Order: sequence, then structure tokens, then C-alpha cells
Amino acid sequence: MKRIALLGATGSIGRQALEIVQEHPELELVAAASGSTPIDGLAQLTQVGGDLTELLDRAEPDVVLNAVVGFAGLPATLWALERGVDLALANKESLVSGGDLAVAAWREGGGRLLPVDSEHSAAFQLLDGRPPETVDSLVLTASGGPFRGHSRADLAEVTSAEALAHPTWSMGPKITVDSATLMNKGLELIEAHFLFGLPYERIEVVVHPTSVVHALVRFRDGASLAHLGYPDMRVPISYALTYPERAETSIEPLDFAAGLILEFRAPDLDAFPCLALARAAGDAGDTAPCVLNAANEVAVAAFLDGELPFLGIPDVVERTLGQVDCPPARDLADLTAIDAEARRIASALTRELVH
Ligand code: NAD
Ligand code: MG
Repeated sequence: MKRIALLGATGSIGRQALEIVQEHPELELVAAASGSTPIDGLAQLTQVGGDLTELLDRAEPDVVLNAVVGFAGLPATLWALERGVDLALANKESLVSGGDLAVAAWREGGGRLLPVDSEHSAAFQLLDGRPPETVDSLVLTASGGPFRGHSRADLAEVTSAEALAHPTWSMGPKITVDSATLMNKGLELIEAHFLFGLPYERIEVVVHPTSVVHALVRFRDGASLAHLGYPDMRVPISYALTYPERAETSIEPLDFAAGLILEFRAPDLDAFPCLALARAAGDAGDTAPCVLNAANEVAVAAFLDGELPFLGIPDVVERTLGQVDCPPARDLADLTAIDAEARRIASALTRELVH
């Protein structure tokens, strides 16, 4: 029996995780948390909002599935990594913001960090057991989102309703907007750097509209391996929760006879500057990714509220990075302070841009 604590149980990942848990008698949901929606009776222990590490202390899970959205997921990520409790991680913002601390805690704790993000689950499977010196580079695929092919000028007037209409994945609102700006792939680039210990120059992003190939790894002998599957988050969720068994799911395998379109091209960094901003923040290191993430969370919320135009998102992120110091963080308290400062500056910049 594996005892699962599910954080973010009412979200898109959380609901799909509940389906997977129900399908597998060897998975037991011992704790569940949400941000604000009541979830009484969903598990033995439940919590709405508050400090999620208190719930985890009480639940003593074998696996924490962190499917909270945003920086709010960071304490739970560190809780699991520090204790060597297996962490199935959907909450990429925690690894982006707290990557250095998380990797140090992971080394100390000695548990497993199992990515749930589809590209990283794919990369994890492709890299599993390969000697690092044989790996040339990692390629993450991006659908390109609803505005793929749009020029910068085309993006000036797009609305949140248009941004929320994702072509291949059905997800929560924040990540759907991140997919439309390509910030999602920028966050994933930083996430991959910390998960796999690869330098940024050896992680590439390509646009692949059908989202069938989730990641590729190029090896030093000229061979590349790819991970394929229909875009369905239940596959990486199941893989992480049942690792290393790779339990059966009810999801259809690929049908090659139906025709698969495997097309790849370079992303348009002029129309989608968030990807370049994330790469630069990753290269800058220290708390630049934390500041990038905080500013993005503020800007995306303002865009969803109809206050900020779409192109205001990269604008707010870039300006915030220009105004906030990004020193190294010694602990969660340092990171929380930098996150708060970045949010304060990003909110002020948002108000300036709107008025
Ligand atoms: P969502 O908005 O649908 O759900 C978010 C969940 O987090 C909800 O249950 C909400 O109640 C909870 N939550 C928010 N703030 C909280 C807080 N302070 N304390 C406790 N719970 C809180 O989001 P989602 O699409 O399910 O995404 C969740 C995470 O998974 C994000 O980090 C996202 O980037 C990542 N992810 C999602 C997908 C996807 O297909 N949805 C794919 C890959 C990665
Ligand atoms: Mg992803």
C-alpha cells in the first residue's frame, strides 16, 4: 500500500490524480488539501488553505503529490525533499523559485523526485539509467499554445478567453495562460535544469503543435530517443504514483494507422519573449528565477482579471527583473521575502502600465 497525500486536490491535476488513485487499490489517499474549495470526506485528513506542511506532518505519507498552483506549493515541496519522502511534482513553480534549496534538500533527504509535468516525466524516462556523459542535450516540446503563428502585432489585442482556449491540453487557468505566452516552457526549462542537472545551453525548446512527442534526448553518438503518447496528464500522474511499476491505465496507446503528424520548429522569441526571459533568469541564477516566477504570477492574475493586456505580461516580468535584486537565498524565509518583494514591484508596475 502506498499512502498518498494529494495537495491541490480540486484542480485539473488533482482531479485526474483522484481518478488514478481510484483505479489502483494499492494507492491509498491519506490526505488531501485544496486552496479554498471544501473537500470534507475526500480523504482521512483534509485541509483547506493554511500551512500544508501541518497536514503532511499529521498524514505521514509515502508520496506527496504536489499539484498546488504557484509559489504557495514551495513549503510542501521542501517538506517532502528534506524528509526523503517521495515527491510527485506537478507544482513546477516551487522548483523554479526554490531550485537551489530544493536540490540541496533532495540530496540531503535522499528520496525520489518524480516529475509529473509531461515533458519532464518523458525526459525522466528517457534519461533513466543513462550515464550522464552519453547525453548530449535534452529537447522539450511546446504545443505553441492558442497563439502559435501569431506575430507580436497580432498579440496586442488578444483576450483572456482566447488565451484560455488551449489547442491540445485542458488545464487550470494559470498554466493555460503560461502556455499562451510560452512562459510555461520557460518555467519548464528551469524545472528541467534542476531536475536533471543539465546546463541551460544543453536544454532546447521546440514547437511541436500536436503534443504527441513530449521530450527527446540527443545522445553523443548521434542517436536521439523520443517519448510519445497522446496528450493526457493521467499518464505521467500514474507513472509518478506507481513508480517504478508503471501500472496499467485505461488510456489508449498511440494509433499509428490513424496518422500522426510529427512536426517541429523553432519558437518565435520575438512574439513570445517570456521564453527568452526565463532562459536569461535561469542563466543569471540565484533568485532571478524566483523573481521571474513571482512577477509572472502577478501579471497573469492581472491579465485574467482583464486589467493587463497580453503583452503586458512579458513587460511586467522584464521590468520587475530589472528592479529587484536577486541575491542567493539561504532558506525558505529568504525566498519568501524575495518573492514578496518581487510581487510588490510587479503589482506597482502593473498599475503603472494600466493607468
Ligand atoms: P488548478 O488551478 O486547476 O488547480 C490548482 C489547485 O491548487 C487547486 O486545487 C487549488 O485549490 C489549489 N491551491 C491553490 N492555492 C493553494 C494554496 N495556497 N494552498 C493549497 N492549495 C492551493 O491548476 P492545475 O492546472 O491543476 O496545475 C497545478 C500545478 O500543476 C501547476 O503548478 C501547474 O503548472 C502544474 N501542471 C499542470 C498541468 C495540467 O495539465 N493542468 C500540467 C503540467 C503541470
Ligand atoms: Mg508541461
